Amino acid sequence: MQAIDLLVRAEFLYPVTEGVPVVPDGEVAIVSNRIVYAGPRKPDGHWHAVRTISGAGRAVLPGFVNAHCHTASIVFRSQTDDHAAKAALFNVAFPMEKDISDAQWQLLGTVGCAEMLRAGITTINDIWYSPESLARTVADCGLRAQIANKVFDVRLEALFRDDYTRHRDVGQARLRHGVEFVERWQGAADGRITTRIGTHAPDTCDAGLWREARAEANRLGVGMHTHAAQSAGEVDYILRTHGCGPMEYLRDNGVLAPDVVLAHLTLATDGDLAAVRETGAAYAHCPTIYPRRGRYPRLEDILSLGIPTGFGTDWMLNDPFEGMRMAIQAMRLRLGDPGAMTCEQALALHTIGAARAIGLGDQIGSLEPGKKADLISVNLDRPHLQPFYGAPQALVFYAKSSDVDTSIIDGQIVLEAGQPTRLDQVRAMANLALHIPAWRTRLSELGSTAVAGPGCPCCG
Ligand SMILES: [Zn+2]
Repeated sequence: MQAIDLLVRAEFLYPVTEGVPVVPDGEVAIVSNRIVYAGPRKPDGHWHAVRTISGAGRAVLPGFVNAHCHTASIVFRSQTDDHAAKAALFNVAFPMEKDISDAQWQLLGTVGCAEMLRAGITTINDIWYSPESLARTVADCGLRAQIANKVFDVRLEALFRDDYTRHRDVGQARLRHGVEFVERWQGAADGRITTRIGTHAPDTCDAGLWREARAEANRLGVGMHTHAAQSAGEVDYILRTHGCGPMEYLRDNGVLAPDVVLAHLTLATDGDLAAVRETGAAYAHCPTIYPRRGRYPRLEDILSLGIPTGFGTDWMLNDPFEGMRMAIQAMRLRLGDPGAMTCEQALALHTIGAARAIGLGDQIGSLEPGKKADLISVNLDRPHLQPFYGAPQALVFYAKSSDVDTSIIDGQIVLEAGQPTRLDQVRAMANLALHIPAWRTRLSELGSTAVAGPGCPCCG
């Protein structure tokens, strides 16, 4: 009899390990924060577990890894989704985000972390403001996270007017803040928190700031995280200022390397993709944001080039199941090929693929002995999942994030019966609600067309 801390049983176990099929009647054995076994159920009496979680009506899989997100950005939920989304980003979100206090970011990040946990996300790669606020919440609630402070030297809201005036003092202050955050938080919360240098985008930092940021990342031994070839304005600015694509520009400035996570690549040219491939940089693909913006990245080309790729949620819609379905459907629609991406591939891209993209592929992302115990259990006792035959299609095409029942991160149960165990989401949402009237008024003042009811200029 082998003594273990936790035994997680499954009606269907998805190891997401290459060459290992779905295991009916499987189990995962955990000692401390590590997996010691993942496979078919052993005979009764094999394990002596401190705690056993029943597998009846449950699918168990690796926790989802979110390769690019802005957890606290939910203050702008619904504000940039419909018509005039671009104008809303520049006229509403960019001016308003400067006025949100650290305490408010902490509150927004707490609700955002609850959302991530409940969706089965076990690791986030976040770039935003007030990284300390998010880090404190992550430490408390049990998530695993890579966090970066957002660094830029322009006025983001001025880019809409093509105003690229550089504010060196602002860029330096933001980089210093990012560096100090790395020095303070790298490896915190028993190693659950790691850090990156978060240069915002190729056009929002000048070449000198990019090179300084790269040098600091090298000195600190951490990676970088940036948006890349995301907007027409960015691509146009880099082309007319430097005569090349944004990824060629970052390569030529010595920035790109295997420790850089590039979000989006929506407008990447062949030259840009070649630059990414030759430098070994990784790609975070966020399936739910692109159809909303009417343009989808060349995911099939990026995958065929062998660029390390994983899925992320970007902002507002943090539902991995929705993301996997969107990626499959978008690729099939664009290529007119119903076999263009399989459910197995999509599942891998949101787990082991994303883990590799953010440099944690040897630690998380699949269920195998030696890896850290980051796994989730999905409740299959739901009408929309019946009858459940167990193949990846059954999960990827039909499950919802609200079906996630249990989440274990670093060997600790952080979600039970669909509720976070170490985070008071009811209190956090109640505190958040106190700020909504003021945010609503501010959104209206900035000309938001996506506010209804009190505070709305047309509704009174
Ligand atoms: Zn983003």
